Amino acid sequence: MSQDMSPPQSPLVPALLDLDDTIQFNCYQVISCFNACCKQADITLAPYDIIRLKQRLGMSSTEFLKKHTVPFEMDASGMPGVKLRTTDEEPVCLLMTDQGCSVYADRPSACRYYPVGLMAMRPSDAPSEEHHYCLVEEPHCKGHQEARKLTVAEYRQEQGVEEYDELNREWYQIILKKRSAGPSVGKPSPTSFQFFFLCSYDVDRLREFTATQSFRNTYALSEEDYAGFGDDVSLLQFGYRLMKQVLFGEESIPLREGALEERIEKRRDIIEARRQLEIEMHRQKQDPYQSPCEG
Ligand code: SF4
Ligand code: SF4
Repeated sequence: MSQDMSPPQSPLVPALLDLDDTIQFNCYQVISCFNACCKQADITLAPYDIIRLKQRLGMSSTEFLKKHTVPFEMDASGMPGVKLRTTDEEPVCLLMTDQGCSVYADRPSACRYYPVGLMAMRPSDAPSEEHHYCLVEEPHCKGHQEARKLTVAEYRQEQGVEEYDELNREWYQIILKKRSAGPSVGKPSPTSFQFFFLCSYDVDRLREFTATQSFRNTYALSEEDYAGFGDDVSLLQFGYRLMKQVLFGEESIPLREGALEERIEKRRDIIEARRQLEIEMHRQKQDPYQSPCEG
């Protein structure tokens, strides 16, 4: 199974399908290729996939990321992505059993869609992104030889992808926007990628971040807002807003009065400290025998 749910990077150029288009496919437990796709797993995870899986497995997102994923770069700019971990020797998904997927009801979006691929793209002249679909035909998958015909819309409904698409949609928009902003503002900083990783994938660490004093001093949120952060999905959606605010300056979260000035003041202190250090280093260069401890 090779399925990338992020905006497409695949070298394949398959025919584009829309919701009304018909596909011929079926998959069931006694099919001859049962589990073959999970033995060739290449599953990119989206934020809501991680929430479903970490809840299913009863662990924090931080633990889940450590135990069940591997990092990779989603594009040439180095945007961080995560894939489901497989066995070391072969690409066998660690969540696969002889009876099938051990997390079936909470399987990731890419597994639900397979062999349909979701392609989110934003043509330069379009106001928002467009969604298309494609059919991925891999030799190991015999489901394409089955007689059943259904539309892409019916397949999506059968596989329960709508909830996933709904909760991942804003994230795809952020990726597309970050990509399109890239070349004009240079390579994104490592800090912006760390922030993207935190808000996208590690909801439990994001919760810790929102509980810090510096976060509370910066944003003017109510106790009701903070209580809502106990819910993973609500916090994920807040994380999307936070990313848009921090990365693109789209202000939707109110700042505390004076918070911005305070941050600029702190920044000024750092810049002044750096300046003093540079003066000192310059002075030492001119007088190499003077100890830094001497006045
Ligand atoms: S999560 Fe489940 S469906 Fe997806 S590759 Fe792993 S075993 Fe297969
Ligand atoms: S038909 Fe395709 S999707 Fe279904 S088990 Fe076989 S390889 Fe996997």
